[in-house]
Amino acid sequence: MPDGVIVSDPGIFMMFRNLAPEVNLHVSTQANITNAESAKFWEGLGAKRLVLSRELTIDEIREIRDVTSLELEVFVHGSICISYSGRCYISSFLASRSANTGECTNSCRWNYSLMEEKRKGEYLPVFENDRGTYLMNSKDLCMIEHLPLLVGAGIDSFKIEGRMKGINYVAGVVKTYREAVDTAYNGKAYNIDPRWLRELSMFSSRGYTTGMFLGKQPDEDYNFDEASYKMSHDLVGVILEIKDNIAKVGLRNRLDAGDELEYLSPGLEEKLFKIDSMQNNEGEKIFSARNEDIIYINVPSGVRANDLIRRKKSGE
Ligand code: SF4
Repeated sequence: MPDGVIVSDPGIFMMFRNLAPEVNLHVSTQANITNAESAKFWEGLGAKRLVLSRELTIDEIREIRDVTSLELEVFVHGSICISYSGRCYISSFLASRSANTGECTNSCRWNYSLMEEKRKGEYLPVFENDRGTYLMNSKDLCMIEHLPLLVGAGIDSFKIEGRMKGINYVAGVVKTYREAVDTAYNGKAYNIDPRWLRELSMFSSRGYTTGMFLGKQPDEDYNFDEASYKMSHDLVGVILEIKDNIAKVGLRNRLDAGDELEYLSPGLEEKLFKIDSMQNNEGEKIFSARNEDIIYINVPSGVRANDLIRRKKSGE
């Protein structure tokens, strides 16, 4: 039995209520809950949690909190839409991948040209600058510096956008927010750890914004320069098992003796460790291994199974 299901369509919602009343129902951000009346409507239907619209300010969230006892959830990190959340069909139209089924190709971040309708195939450049034209490219949401405001507004759950991202991204961002959320809830002063900002800065070249939470999104929160993510680290491998500080690693990249690596592990501070040598499956000492190889290496204490290993890209 699932812990819950997330739905936006009232018909599907009622189907679950009738056929599986024991399942917790979360209302998706795609239902566009932007006001207290809407929250009360879903409460009346029996929802357990509301994932609020991304277009709300913190004051507006407080107004919703005041009228409902339902759990409230908001997005705190990741890509945000140029369109109204959940009402965008650009990706569905241009790439046959619907944002409404979690498959958005981020088409709003592509580089666009102008075409006069009678001159088919002739793309007239619209230069924003010499890197191209990214008129609809929003910066990414990042609320790590303001989590206590959201806690104070009555938010119960923080959501990180990442359905289409790799495990390297998801592990780094979730680990960082886990530490921040624990700090926000420990009752002491919320001191922002510079490590959090360093970690998050590895993942976005679009720059970050606080979205609508603190009021109208300023114009400079649109990134007209470039669209792509540039991660500063490569995923090297995943730790499959550990025994006596010897880790069995499934490689996702080439690894050479002498490389300096970081272990991405909950609660473990990121530090560089040099790989002097490794062993293959037959127990032979080797000095180089490739993607998909299984190797064995010594790891520092605190590293656990399922942790990730990453390496700074050369030149970063
Ligand atoms: S194409 Fe852009 S605006 Fe549309 S759903 Fe995807 S991220 Fe959002």
